[in-house]
Amino acid sequence: MIDKLYDKKITFAAFKQSRLIMKIICIGRNYIEHAKELSNPIPKSPLIFMKPSTALLTDGKPFYHPAFSQNIHYELEVVLKICKNGKAIQAQFAETYYQHIGLGIDFTARDLQDSLKDKGQPWELAKAFDHSACVGDFVDKSTLDIRSIKFNLTKNGQTAQEGNTSDLIFNFDYLISYISQYFTLQVGDLIFTGTPAGVGKVAIGDSYEGFLEGNRLIECKIK
Ligand code: ZN
Repeated sequence: MIDKLYDKKITFAAFKQSRLIMKIICIGRNYIEHAKELSNPIPKSPLIFMKPSTALLTDGKPFYHPAFSQNIHYELEVVLKICKNGKAIQAQFAETYYQHIGLGIDFTARDLQDSLKDKGQPWELAKAFDHSACVGDFVDKSTLDIRSIKFNLTKNGQTAQEGNTSDLIFNFDYLISYISQYFTLQVGDLIFTGTPAGVGKVAIGDSYEGFLEGNRLIECKIK
């Protein structure tokens, strides 16, 4: 009996390879116009929060509107996929820690977030719930000028958000350096680098598409 169970064991290494263990690190208020639209101050250092791996929503699957919020917002963001383990990474070497760039939607329960902020409490319930991290396809960064990537979100075919990484308050290299002082970055980890202005409420039936330099990398329907 014991032998049989032992045959079926899954090693810790296998878990890591299947990416069941990974983290999603997100940056808040990284575009000035977005900080302003929610009446938030411009941060002096990156505002960091995390989502667990259970927040992932991939492969173009729909987002099912949860009952616990009446005001879920979309936030389109450029996402970095970490390709090398590292800690305390110097900014000058940061770009060797990611090779692929994609788009994600950071679904946010704005009503919950507002009440948590008022009470000075952590944001997890508003930011880290199941399927709150919608992630699309990735492209190799060698095809891009990472200091000036245009990206945009359409809602039911109309432009909802437009951004450019040239407007980031904290650029990718700085973020990786800053984050890795606190959290060891591991292969497969994702960094949501912040949303530009234009966030808004989703409604059941909405259809969202995200484009990076004109290439559609993400789509998500709200059900
Ligand atoms: Zn966000």
